[in-house]
Amino acid sequence: MEVDSFEIGPIRPPSEAHSLFIRVTRNCPWNRCKFCPTYKGKKFELRPVEEIKQDILTVKAIQDKLKEIALKSGYGGRVEETAAAILNNPPNEAFFNVALWLYYGGENAFIQDANSLIMRTDELAEVIRFLKQTLPTITRVTSYGRSKTAAKKRLEELVQLREAGLSRLHIGLESGYDPVLKYMDKGVTAADHIKGGKNIVASGISLSEYVLLGLGGKGMWREHATETAKVLNQINPDFIRVRTLTIRPGMPLYDEVKNGNFIRQTDEEIVEEEKLLIENLDCQSNLVSDHITNLLQEIEGKLPEDKEKMLATVARFQSLSPEEKQNFRLGRRLGIYEGLDELHDSLKHNSVERAIKKLSHNGNQLDEEAIYSLMERFV
Ligand code: SF4
Repeated sequence: MEVDSFEIGPIRPPSEAHSLFIRVTRNCPWNRCKFCPTYKGKKFELRPVEEIKQDILTVKAIQDKLKEIALKSGYGGRVEETAAAILNNPPNEAFFNVALWLYYGGENAFIQDANSLIMRTDELAEVIRFLKQTLPTITRVTSYGRSKTAAKKRLEELVQLREAGLSRLHIGLESGYDPVLKYMDKGVTAADHIKGGKNIVASGISLSEYVLLGLGGKGMWREHATETAKVLNQINPDFIRVRTLTIRPGMPLYDEVKNGNFIRQTDEEIVEEEKLLIENLDCQSNLVSDHITNLLQEIEGKLPEDKEKMLATVARFQSLSPEEKQNFRLGRRLGIYEGLDELHDSLKHNSVERAIKKLSHNGNQLDEEAIYSLMERFV
């Protein structure tokens, strides 16, 4: 017997880990950013509205099946319990996604892939309305989009999407400095970022802007930090989400590093860059560090009131001895530490010290390559 299934794209933001995934386009229509491996070698495609609606109906069919199992089983009709049982042994990725979504309340949906805004506005609005009508527990619908596309949309179109039910857009700002954007082949200028971001804010759709620390390399890190802050100050998004550049084979940037055209910063240099970024932010956004690639994941808060608290975290790291900095860096990259407080946990501290001995050439000093290669696992 054939098991129900629907298409799921390769990625979603960390904050959408428990959302239902609805794929409205395949891959990325730009696909040229040097630091991004996600869709390389894959062709962009729009999906017909009828095909997407069929996927949504399949989600409903899977949901109905889970409800039926819940009624027949000893779970007292509670679909969350049935979903939890399915999660242990799902027949396919689609069942797993529906079960996880239901387990976490069935309220959030994430529209894939890289730039759903490229779809005709009428069609995207129709899909979102159909999604909410078919699965009425959904109260929040979010998606990725590109600034360039948001800049080209008329404000009325974005308002139309909000009225259809689009709650939030996640935009990869990466940098606000034109030479960095150009070098990375982002296909967007700082002016496009500002126009697209302001359009989204004006439409009433919540906006998350993603910043990529380290993207300026050793050559342009200062301008990357200060110009990115300037662009963010003009947009004033609801969220600024920080990520740290991680380079691995498969990215065009990997070759640039190998041939010496791009020189990576160390963790300590990136912390200095983050400090400069935060110092220059003058907006009312929430800053979030919800990604494993960030050294200081505890840098979070509402601007402007939490700025000093965030800078105090930077200062705390910077005041550590070289040995403690190394211990913390490796502990973070091995997934042992979540925050600076854990440096006081002697079990964790000792296990990082043992790892330093194993990984270092002379018994106590790690080279940067060892740290970079550990970070490759994160992307
Ligand atoms: S636009 Fe986004 S998904 Fe597309 S290549 Fe650039 S970073 Fe990757």
